[in-house]
Amino acid sequence: MVAEIVCVGTELLLGDIVNTNAQHISKELAHIGIDLYYQTVVGDNKERVWNVLDTALKRADLIIMTGGLGPTKDDLTKEVAASFFGKKLVFHEQTYEHVRKRLESYGISEMTESQKKQALVPEGALIVTNPAGLAPGIIMAQGDKAIVMLPGPPKEMKAVLSECCHLFINRLSDQVFVSINIKCKGPDELPLKEIGEAPVADLLGDILDNENPTVATYAKEDGVLIRVTASGKTREEALTAMQPVVTKTATKTVKKAAKKDIKIKAFVEYYGKQVEEKDIIARVKKAWTRSGKKVGDIKEMDLYIKPEENAVYYVINGTETGAVEFE
Ligand code: ATP
Ligand code: MG
Repeated sequence: MVAEIVCVGTELLLGDIVNTNAQHISKELAHIGIDLYYQTVVGDNKERVWNVLDTALKRADLIIMTGGLGPTKDDLTKEVAASFFGKKLVFHEQTYEHVRKRLESYGISEMTESQKKQALVPEGALIVTNPAGLAPGIIMAQGDKAIVMLPGPPKEMKAVLSECCHLFINRLSDQVFVSINIKCKGPDELPLKEIGEAPVADLLGDILDNENPTVATYAKEDGVLIRVTASGKTREEALTAMQPVVTKTATKTVKKAAKKDIKIKAFVEYYGKQVEEKDIIARVKKAWTRSGKKVGDIKEMDLYIKPEENAVYYVINGTETGAVEFE
């Protein structure tokens, strides 16, 4: 697997800002063992972004782009990438709702036309909600090539990249990655100071500096998600590496939970319902046959579990993408 980074932004070319995004992405790729031979910076210009993509896709399998995902006229990354793969931009309800709610929290109730543009995404793409901003991450796969688009602001880029790694990029590496989610969830009235990201991070202390497995916290509306991710040559090797840290993490949080009456569980939860893997697979097969295809044609099925969107995205036989929603 060979990756290439493309950072879009005239500001970068003028020297107004330093390309810290490329540095961060390079480190992450090195960490999971994906080769990187080239990085390119290109200005906000359709034709030049197209040419850079064309060159990059000839020499790499995975292109990670940052910048140009915003709502203004000079933000053209997703249009160019979509047309490169022959896809249209389509309306994405969850992104629209995310943008609307986030703007509302800033006291903005009317959306401008350009803000609505944030909800347009390439058809069939895997969409990663941006926990730190408006523009979502976008993953487009076609054949054995993929383009991952991340927002430009570094804080947003890091948050979305981490989700993309969890959902997609890790799977392209030779290593096998296994994650376990531990959810710290409090009753509604429990103040965020008990189950907010910061107190949970304090509680975990230097566990968060661990290398394999890595442990990360994610703020959610109803609590905190702790994700423990281990890698290895096989699933068994990753699970073995993971076990002591999961035990340590869970013990710390469960002990605290016992004192504070916080519910903690490992989960795949959609609309508050626990869903088992076999049920998810059955739903995906149903969606597939509903579109006139046969179950026997499924040679490979990749599932991207997204509890926060109440959806599971699937890639069948490496090329056909779609989503199944739970309600
Ligand atoms: P926005 O919605 O804010 O417009 P965007 O995805 O369109 O986001 P850009 O407009 O390209 O991103 O960049 C927004 C800001 O993000 C820049 O002004 C800069 O501060 C920062 N930024 C963009 N690219 C990089 C980079 N490669 N390295 C560091 N910072 C960057
Ligand atoms: Mg922009």
